Order: sequence, then C-alpha cells, then structure tokens
Amino acid sequence: MLQVNHRGTGKTVLVAGGAGFVGSHLCDALLGRGDAVICVDSYITGSRDNVRPLVNHPGFRLIEQDICEFLKIDEPVDQIYNLACAASPPQYQADPVHTMMTCVAGTGNLLALADRQGASFLQASTSEVYGDPAEHPQREDYRGNVSCTGPRACYDEGKRAAEALCFDMLRVDRVDARVARIFNTYGPRMQANDGRIVSNLIVQALSGKPLTIYGSGTQTRSFCYVSDLVGGLIALMDVRPNPGMPVNLGNPGEFTINELAEMVRSMMPVQTAVAYRPLPKDDPQRRRPDISRAMELLNWQPTVPLAEGLRYTIDWFAANLDDRPRRRTGAPRHRRRMAASHTAFLEN
Ligand code: NAD
Ligand code: UDP
Repeated sequence: MLQVNHRGTGKTVLVAGGAGFVGSHLCDALLGRGDAVICVDSYITGSRDNVRPLVNHPGFRLIEQDICEFLKIDEPVDQIYNLACAASPPQYQADPVHTMMTCVAGTGNLLALADRQGASFLQASTSEVYGDPAEHPQREDYRGNVSCTGPRACYDEGKRAAEALCFDMLRVDRVDARVARIFNTYGPRMQANDGRIVSNLIVQALSGKPLTIYGSGTQTRSFCYVSDLVGGLIALMDVRPNPGMPVNLGNPGEFTINELAEMVRSMMPVQTAVAYRPLPKDDPQRRRPDISRAMELLNWQPTVPLAEGLRYTIDWFAANLDDRPRRRTGAPRHRRRMAASHTAFLEN
C-alpha cells in the first residue's frame, strides 16, 4: 500500500507515462501538493533517470508495465492521467503498430481501470489531431486535416481514436473523462536524441554541430514550457464540472523553425552553422492553439516566454548532456513485450 506523505491530500493519482518528459514533471507537481502517485511506465521512450529522485518518496510507487497489457491495481485510485505514448515523430514511427495499440488498447485498458475504480481520467491528446490544419489558429471545434494512411497516422489517428474512446466512456456515464489537446511542449528532461526540434537544436548547438532545419524552415510551431503545461493538465483534471469537450493546452506564441533556430543560436557562446534537410512527409505547415476555452474554463494561460524557457532548457542540457545515456530510437525490446492479444493479428 502507498503511504500518503505528511501534507497528504489523501488522493492517489496514477500517471501512465510518468517516467517520460512531461509525465515526470507531472509526478513532481502532484507529489509536491501532497498526492500519492503511482507511476506506470514501460520506459520505451522514458527513463528511470527522470523519476530517480522520487523513488524514495513515501508517496511514490513505480510500476514497470506496458499499458497495452491488462493493468491490475489493487489500491483505490482517484485520478488517472494517461500520458503513455511516444511523442516524437521518429520515436512514434519507429514501431507504428505499437504506437497505435498504445493509443487504442492502452487507453482502453486505463479507461477500464478508471471505470472499475470510479477514478477521473485525463487523456493526453495532441494538436496532431488537427493534422496539417486548414484553419488557423486551431480551435477545438476544428475537425482537422489528417492523413489516415501516412507515416504520422499511427499517432494522429491513434490519438483521435483515443479521444473517441474517452468521449464514449463519458457519454455512457462510465468514466469522468477529460481530454487535453497538447501543443508542442519543451523543457528539461526531453531526451537528447528524441529527434524533436527543441532538443535537436540545443544538443546540436551545445555539441558544435550544424543546426538541422527540415524543409525551408518557414513552417511554424507554438512552444509551451513544461511547467505551464503541467499546470494546465492539473487544472483540467480538477475542474468541476467536467467540461465534456476537448481543451487546447499550449502557448499561442507562434514561431517559424528558422526563428527558433536563430533564437537558440543567439543564446550560445559559439554560433554554429545551419544545415537544411528534406522536410519529412506530411509535416504540418503551421500550428498555433486558440486557448480561449482553457482561459475561460480553467482560468489558465502560459506564463513562461520562449526565451526564458529556452534558457532553462539550455542550462539543463548543458549540465546533463554528458551524464545521460543516449537512448536509441526504436522499440525492439517492447515489441517483444507487447500483449499477445494485441499483436496476434501480426503473426497470422
Ligand atoms: P515521452 O516520450 O517523453 O513520454 C512518454 C512516456 O510514456 C515515456 O516514459 C514512455 O516510456 C511511456 N510509454 C510510451 N508507450 C507506453 C506504453 N505502451 N506503456 C507504458 N508506457 C509507455 O513524451 P512526452 O513528450 O512526455 O509526452 C507525454 C504525452 O503527452 C504523450 O502522450 C504525448 O502524446 C503527449 N503530447 C506531448 C507533446 C509534447 O510536445 N511533449 C505534445 C502533444 C502531446
Ligand atoms: N524539425 C527541424 N529540424 C529538426 C527536427 C524537427 O526542422 O532537427 C522540424 C520538423 O520538420 C517540424 C518542426 O521542426 O516542422 C517540429 O518538429 P517536432 O518533431 O519537434 O514536432 P512536430 O512535428 O510533431 O510538431
């Protein structure tokens, strides 16, 4: 049984994907306010290093498990956050079937647990449900422009299916489910080699390598610092009544990739060159959240400007880059571990 720490709220919260970049910051924040936390993670893209400082905390328990497998949790759980899913394009495309199964079977398993336990549920969805958006900025009622056959589909369509599962469980009154549509988030504990833009640029700049820009660099993204996002996730989980609709969480500041690269370059003591590379297939051209809904329902908006968040992130990478083992992208270990019931069709 978990012990709740001395300032305990009495709540027990399960964080699936809690050893990942965002998940580990969420675990910190929940423990910090006195919740007991059960972190479930397979380490497919996350790392024990991210939660190492928490393992001796009396309110923290770590379970190594793939959420595609049946989850048996005996103690009562009040809230379940589902952040378990590879999030960087190279990583979620490395084993696309597993990504899709994580989104569908994994989210289904966690929703079933929430149903059995009477727990509230928050799904970490994504701005990728808007695909390469024809509307700008993206409001939650925009239905998106997603390829269901391209290389990003395992993630985009997987997350869309997971949203549908959440709203079905809500409609049939079985789970108090909430859905956050998260836009690009960055900060300390991103993996050095996960292939995402912020980590790539910083690691390249710190290693004196050329900054890689895919395509012309005129595509845009909106970058949210991780502490802002975690505040939004907790606010969405705790708000009463359940909004009953998805909520965008992101920073509405919009930057081209060229502008971001220039910012990172200008923050380094030595300025490296830029190397242009081909644009990956189906790469969205622009992305910016309309956060009116989050402001109205949650009284939430980001507070950390990009330059400040980048400074914290650069400092963290500078201090940690050499110590942390570089993980290979890909999932062969976990492909073996996937629940037989979810992969049987591949073996026929
Ligand atoms: P991350 O890869 O650092 O974290 C994901 C965590 O989930 C990892 O610890 C990984 O090991 C674990 N995981 C993956 N599949 C699993 C499975 N089948 N079973 C158990 N554990 C599994 O990614 P992140 O950036 O921290 O993203 C967290 C969540 O937020 C993801 O669901 C992602 O889709 C969503 N999201 C993130 C961003 C972003 O910019 N960071 C943007 C949109 C959505
Ligand atoms: N990108 C880039 N150089 C890199 C990594 C990514 O130019 O080294 C581009 C990528 O093509 C995309 C943007 O940066 O247009 C954001 O990529 P990321 O993988 O971080 O997130 P996503 O595409 O999922 O928004």
